[in-house]
Amino acid sequence: MIKVTVWNEAVHEKFSREVARVYPDGIHGCIKDFLSLDDEIEVRTATLGMKECGLPDQVLEDTDVLIWWGHMAHGKVPDKLVDKIYDRVLRGMGLIVLHSGHHSKIFKKLMGTTCNLSWREGDRERLWLVNPSHPIARGVDPCFELDVEEMYGERFDIPEPDQLIFLGWFAGGEVFRSGCCWQKGLGRVFYFQPGHESNPTYHNENVQKVITNAVHWVYPANGIAEKLECPHIKKSPEEIYKERNNG
Ligand code: ZN
Repeated sequence: MIKVTVWNEAVHEKFSREVARVYPDGIHGCIKDFLSLDDEIEVRTATLGMKECGLPDQVLEDTDVLIWWGHMAHGKVPDKLVDKIYDRVLRGMGLIVLHSGHHSKIFKKLMGTTCNLSWREGDRERLWLVNPSHPIARGVDPCFELDVEEMYGERFDIPEPDQLIFLGWFAGGEVFRSGCCWQKGLGRVFYFQPGHESNPTYHNENVQKVITNAVHWVYPANGIAEKLECPHIKKSPEEIYKERNNG
């Protein structure tokens, strides 16, 4: 089983009736519901308001894939927790960062850049699948529309993605690298742009497929390393080989 933790700051849902109407169980609740349909995935949720932000050591250490949604409260996530998540990604944990999570502390730390972008409220988006043989693309339409989505435009200040999966086009004319993959240490990271809090984006079938596929893709199939070492090799493999064969 793939152990997924869906983390959401869950602040908009509390203060906006409009957002609560679209996501009555929170954005995390909606993501949990569709991921639970996959019988290889075991999913739990965590929110900022919970004790230790919902990510005490025992939860984080029991997480293969972390999904991150944040917007207004990035600054409230303690640096110490961000350091722990960062360390776990480098050791192999998969990370999926959604929408406004581009400015989360963890994403910026992993990218090493500002992760700034240009933005504009509500517009129609068309997502183009530009890497159809990638596992994240399985069963996803080659091109699909979201009637209303927040415009995120270039330039997106990120390091060059290892793989680009989606290009987003907005009716106003902007384009955006909407689905990007990186390897960071032993961990895989996927950023997916759609998902503004007041839009029903996470109810969209293609979006659900992308996130579900991404869980499988970032999953550390060979486990998560206990620690990352920098060993001093006192005897080379060739010396050991020669000893064995001469002895
Ligand atoms: Zn937004």
